[in-house]
Amino acid sequence: LFAGPVEFLKGVVAMEGLPPDDRPEVCFAGRSNVGKSSLINALTGRKALARTSNTPGRTQEINFFTVGESRYLVDLPGYGFAEAPLPVVEKWQRLLRAYLAGRASLRRAFVLVDMRHGIKKVDEEIMGLLNKSAVTFQVILTKADKVSTADQEKTLAQVRTALAKHPAAYPEILVTSSEKGDGIATLRALIASIA
Ligand code: GDP
Repeated sequence: LFAGPVEFLKGVVAMEGLPPDDRPEVCFAGRSNVGKSSLINALTGRKALARTSNTPGRTQEINFFTVGESRYLVDLPGYGFAEAPLPVVEKWQRLLRAYLAGRASLRRAFVLVDMRHGIKKVDEEIMGLLNKSAVTFQVILTKADKVSTADQEKTLAQVRTALAKHPAAYPEILVTSSEKGDGIATLRALIASIA
């Protein structure tokens, strides 16, 4: 799947702007700075691809990337930073809710969690929303290279406990490092297998 071209398609600010739901898509969510851009770049082998999503003006958009002709990768804005004015945050939350509840072609959400920090309150909130929207989600732990094996086990245990509360959670937790490449091939194969 990832051997083909990966391109930025568009940034979406309202439901009317969504591309036709004509192919399976997966989305990526996570707190700002969790390593979402780095992961998308590592996945696609395109160094600066997801930088697009982090440039000013694009951070409140739902950003669509095409993977060949057969999949969309969807980059949801990073959450957990309260610097945006309230009306902006509220508009974004409405769009996010509408997207998650109404997107027929959305097959899975990946919730990125920093392996050093584990699941925070905002992650719980997004998982609650995914659960309510009946979107199957899976946790991807990021920056594994920064964490000792013992601490990795602690975070894994915390995440397992948190996931047990959510019926929409997919139990397998992916451990990744965009820096070292750990887990990237596994994630690619997983996305390719989601039809
Ligand atoms: P985003 O805001 O979620 O898109 O996060 P970025 O991808 O921009 O990453 C935030 C910071 O974490 C940057 O300084 C990255 O270099 C760093 N980072 C991201 N992934 C990794 C990783 O796997 N290992 C290490 N050591 N640092 C990472």
